Amino acid sequence: MIERLMTPSTTPDIRDSDDPLAPYRERFDLPEGVIYLDGNSLGPLPRGVSDRVAATVADQWGTSLIRGWNDHAWMDLPTTVGDKIARLIGAPAGSVVAGDSTSINVFKALSAALRLRPGRTTILSDTGNFPTDLYVAQELAALLGSGYQLETVTPDAVESRIDADVAVVMLTEVDYRTGRRHDMKALTRAAHAAGALIIWDLAHSAGAFPVHLQDCGADFAVGCGYKYLNGGPGALAFLFVAPEHQAHLRPAIAGWMGHDAPFAFDPDYRPAPDIRRMQVGTPPILAMAALDAALDVFADVDMEAVRRKSVALCNLFIDEVERRCPQLELVTPREADRRGSQVSFRTPEGYAMMQALIAHGVIGDFRAPDIMRFGFTPLYLRYHDVIAAAEMLERVVNERLWDQEQFRHRRKVT
Ligand SMILES: *Cc1c(COP(=O)(O)O)cnc(C)c1O
Repeated sequence: MIERLMTPSTTPDIRDSDDPLAPYRERFDLPEGVIYLDGNSLGPLPRGVSDRVAATVADQWGTSLIRGWNDHAWMDLPTTVGDKIARLIGAPAGSVVAGDSTSINVFKALSAALRLRPGRTTILSDTGNFPTDLYVAQELAALLGSGYQLETVTPDAVESRIDADVAVVMLTEVDYRTGRRHDMKALTRAAHAAGALIIWDLAHSAGAFPVHLQDCGADFAVGCGYKYLNGGPGALAFLFVAPEHQAHLRPAIAGWMGHDAPFAFDPDYRPAPDIRRMQVGTPPILAMAALDAALDVFADVDMEAVRRKSVALCNLFIDEVERRCPQLELVTPREADRRGSQVSFRTPEGYAMMQALIAHGVIGDFRAPDIMRFGFTPLYLRYHDVIAAAEMLERVVNERLWDQEQFRHRRKVT
């Protein structure tokens, strides 16, 4: 029998009673007996999402049928949801569209960006990038032929590698394994100085801390709806295109929803004049409704306050864990400015330790080959949760609670 963590073993921390973000916890439906440190991988269920999805099914689809496209403005959801995301990532209204997966948006952004830089053939990325981004780039380069290639260098070497053959620099701001954060402003400037364009993947940034896309002068950005934005498993992703590029892009996947007039059924493609040209097919309205309702959680959130608390939570966790479990190796940068909103520790038995921790009610995740990853989401985590999680990790590690056959069995999703 596994003893579950029913209530945190510590008394509420003084910092909790002083926390301006404490009331936001009420906006989530969180299961009892769980400390959730995996909102960076799948955000929890915001209150209001279930009702909104149920109403979209029964009242809109069930009652309005096809009329729903007009009567409930379903057609506009990709851009109205996009505008809600824009606010969180420092992008102007009309520059973000919600839809498809992050992987597909990487393809859409990268193919469009390459066409804006004819004659240059290198896509530059780094070895810490998320595999899907690299796979998409590799195969797009192969499809294009003509010398196109993906080159990856270590994260520190990106800036000095950018030269006149680089068409596009494609980076993820926060490394999904280590939490290391790139300097978005400096790298965007370096890309532009060499005449290249830049694509930022904000999978671990959007909703986690303030992002300033416009201020940085970013050309393109993509990101995930199901991580810090809490849009649900497999939620729609998003794509940002800087306003100055929108009218010049030729989308490689030219779908009818990106046409200027889809219902003209014109046999020739004529892209919409704005961000809508990056849409491809019919938007999935049920998923869109979930993401739309989930984003309402952020309507009045001060992202600077989110960042301040995120830094405090991460610092507290690092201190508590290093003191209790010196055998775990911190792989996340210690300096807050150089990391996102997660903390990762390396240890050979990381998989079994994480499984044991989850069995005891503290949910994080594991990234091969040896990284235990913990995400910190200030809207629903309390300081005393962080201390209780560190206490449980100490027990798992120091009492060898992980050392059981059941925790070694690798499941499909780690
Ligand atoms: C999570 C993540 C993705 C996921 O892509 P999907 O197509 O939504 O599965 C892509 N890129 C990065 C950097 C991620 O962290």
